[in-house]
Amino acid sequence: MSATEHGFKAEVQQLLDLMIHSVYSDREVFIRELVSNAADALDKSRFLGLTRTDLTPLAGEEAGIRITTDAAAGTVIIEDDGIGMTAQEVVDNLGTIARSGSKEFLNRLKEAGQDAPKLIGQFGVGFYSCFMVAERVEVTTRSALPEGEAVLWVSEGAGKYTVEAGDRAHRGTRISLKLREDAKEFADPSVLRHIIRKHSNFLPWPITVDGESANSGKALWAEPPSQVTDEEANNFYRSVASDWRDPALKIHLSVDSPFQYTALLFIPEERPFDLFNHKAERGPRLYARRVLIHEHAADLLPEWLRFVKGVVDSEDISLNVSREMVQKTPIVKKIREALTKRILKDLAKFTEGTEEKPSKYPAVWREFGLLLKEGYYSAPESRDLLLPLLRFNAISHEDDQGLMSLADYKAGMKEGQDTIWFLTAESRELALASPHLEAFRKRGWDVLLLTDPVDEWLVQALEKYEDIPLKSVSRGDLKLEDGDKAEGADLGGLIPWMEAFYGDGLRAVRVSSRLTDSACVLVDDDSGMSANMERILRSANQPVPSARRILELNASHPLIENLVELHKKGKTADTESFSRLLLDDALLLDGSVKDPAAVGRRIQDLLVRASKAALADGSSAAI
Ligand code: ADP
Repeated sequence: MSATEHGFKAEVQQLLDLMIHSVYSDREVFIRELVSNAADALDKSRFLGLTRTDLTPLAGEEAGIRITTDAAAGTVIIEDDGIGMTAQEVVDNLGTIARSGSKEFLNRLKEAGQDAPKLIGQFGVGFYSCFMVAERVEVTTRSALPEGEAVLWVSEGAGKYTVEAGDRAHRGTRISLKLREDAKEFADPSVLRHIIRKHSNFLPWPITVDGESANSGKALWAEPPSQVTDEEANNFYRSVASDWRDPALKIHLSVDSPFQYTALLFIPEERPFDLFNHKAERGPRLYARRVLIHEHAADLLPEWLRFVKGVVDSEDISLNVSREMVQKTPIVKKIREALTKRILKDLAKFTEGTEEKPSKYPAVWREFGLLLKEGYYSAPESRDLLLPLLRFNAISHEDDQGLMSLADYKAGMKEGQDTIWFLTAESRELALASPHLEAFRKRGWDVLLLTDPVDEWLVQALEKYEDIPLKSVSRGDLKLEDGDKAEGADLGGLIPWMEAFYGDGLRAVRVSSRLTDSACVLVDDDSGMSANMERILRSANQPVPSARRILELNASHPLIENLVELHKKGKTADTESFSRLLLDDALLLDGSVKDPAAVGRRIQDLLVRASKAALADGSSAAI
């Protein structure tokens, strides 16, 4: 094979430019990335070896990862006995960014500044991190498949790389780094050993530095849970999740019957960047008797627990089980059910805190609450365990940060209150401005403010808490004992007149018991779709018929009193134009105006008339 020159894909080159030209403090993560790629490659070749006997031979007796240094020459070599790459795989893997989301990654990387190295592993671009420390990188690799030939990939990071025939008789990959002047410390074996202990201690493959063992190599998940220290578990988490932070919560279990499995799972502190990317691979690693069989076994956890990271190992799963078969294996289904229960129970324990040691659950909720809500409406079998985990914002909170459980709400309920009230809206600001809250504020009753789109689905599934029903404040069936006095009144005929005037657009007009300050409000029909739900569906481009809603009037508001008078006096033109604006106002407060231009014109007409009146009688029309 003669040498061929290739250009990096644009996004790779951008990434490399950042790696080369920025001075980062956490450059050591390149070791973790290269070592974990090597371990993955070893896992893959062991897996292949289960079914094939014709693989390219190993270099030595034991497969592993060997690191050698040459301080004088300023080089580090990382070599593995893994699956290696064919020439085509080299071009595919080391010239592009394979995973989706590379644009987003580059933006985040630029923003991250000094913290950039921390992001690298999460985005699946680990290999390129070696350009933070190396001015020249040579990769010699040979596929474990017998037809693959040795390949040499060389690059200095500037725009291009070359690929040519390499010199290697055994399977695996050898990455040789010529260190930059400012990165010579990485040729010091004691520095390397320290980094490996810190990030890669529990990789289940032997790692040596200049011939000496550098990691413990034990499969941490297989140790008895009581003997695994937090530090060991955190270290392990960082290597499986490619995260630089410690996890928020560790869940370690070992089960022997009716079938055997162990799981070491973690809830991260922050959302992985691709949590809402449906193409992203998800699920813990699945091992069968310490052999990695799937890097991401999505079927081991429900989709809404996709933020949980870690490993599951079972002696009862066949090594040869294919991805499709994993799904159909009854044991996998049983493990999924058991893990889901255990995770939710551990989260419930995690919500408990003390004065001195407050629970960190609110932070977990902020990062992953959306998914737990998704679980609540999509997985009825998990509702009982999810219920105590749900958190809400409420009018009694001073800001957006406050979170209330349904138990908290219940504890704060006032005399005579028999319902948990909520309001769904686009934002906390809009919710707080809603006239629907007036009657509740007057009584001092709290209202949950639900501002995530998924909340509309959540409240459909969440009919009651213990025996207390949950109801929307904007629903028609609001019955608050006092204030119902005026109900049924027709306001001197204004109400039937308005119903005829508004026609089919509204279901009814009636006197309100929920308003104290505003003149009017739109109320959702008991059974129809809420205005908020309509807005959400429309913004997702779904055709939705407008539900016919009810306009409620505040009979003691001056505007309504004036309208009653105008109507009595037979001033029809005025009653019409004010009534039209009244409805506009209700729609505006509700966030559901459909023709803002027409509303704007009507407001201008009104202003013309008001200013004329001010000129005519000499009084001020200013409000
Ligand atoms: P990631 O490992 O997250 O996919 P990387 O940029 O680190 O991203 O590596 C890209 C790809 O290159 C890997 O997915 C793998 O296919 C290949 N690769 C990297 N290092 C090795 C290695 N030591 N042996 C075999 N293949 C490797």
